[in-house]
Amino acid sequence: MAKTQDFAKKAEKATKDSVAKCPKCGQPKVSMMFVNSVKTDGGSYRFNRSMASVCKCNEKEIYG
Ligand SMILES: [Zn+2]
Repeated sequence: MAKTQDFAKKAEKATKDSVAKCPKCGQPKVSMMFVNSVKTDGGSYRFNRSMASVCKCNEKEIYG
C-alpha cells in the first residue's frame, strides 16, 4: 500500500516537472523552437532562433 502511494507521488512529480501548465488556460505548454529572419544593418538577413512556450493563449501569435 505504502509503495503504491510512493509510486503515485513520484509519477505525479515527474509529470509536473516535465510539463508546465499555463495558469490561464490550464493547457500544457509546449516548448518549441522557431526561427525569425532579421535584417541586419548591412542589408542582409540572418536567422534568430528562439524558444517559446506555446499554449492556447499564444498559439495564434506564434503560428500567425
Ligand atoms: Zn495558456
